[in-house]
Amino acid sequence: MQFSSHLTVGALTAIVSVKAGWIGLESLDILAVLIGCMLPDIDHPHSTLGRRVKILSVPISKLFGHRGFTHSLLIIIVGLWFLLYYLNTPPGWATGLALGYLSHLAADFVTPSGIPLLWPWRQRFRSPVTVVTGGVGEKVVVGMLMGFTAVWVVCGGHQCRPFFDWLVQLFS
Ligand SMILES: [Zn+2]
Repeated sequence: MQFSSHLTVGALTAIVSVKAGWIGLESLDILAVLIGCMLPDIDHPHSTLGRRVKILSVPISKLFGHRGFTHSLLIIIVGLWFLLYYLNTPPGWATGLALGYLSHLAADFVTPSGIPLLWPWRQRFRSPVTVVTGGVGEKVVVGMLMGFTAVWVVCGGHQCRPFFDWLVQLFS
């Protein structure tokens, strides 16, 4: 997905995460989600983030290629361990980073290229229904997510359960 879509999905993730109580309303927790939603594309020298930190993006790209280990669950597990037990990062920051990171992986999961979720196993996984990066489908998906988030926030989360159950049935 495009940078703007990742950032929008990250912002929606932050809203849902605060509402659900997974992170606090502190600005650094929210900032962590927004940083996390950009981080995976550090493996691409031409991505919005990669262009700004070429000192990292170029070697990572040459070693692992785009959508390698930075688009896997392993890096989230290792990253969380490193942040919480090695750097003693506040849990809200670490959780925010992980949630933002997951939002990026979820967004790339619905693209035709998929992601190597179980890296180092190189098998790529993708959603049964995919949308082309930068296409109309991407805008529709992001727009639908904005709508669902608005409904969820307005309804107060758990009270929306029947609505989301209906949606799941609709798409399964
Ligand atoms: Zn990506």
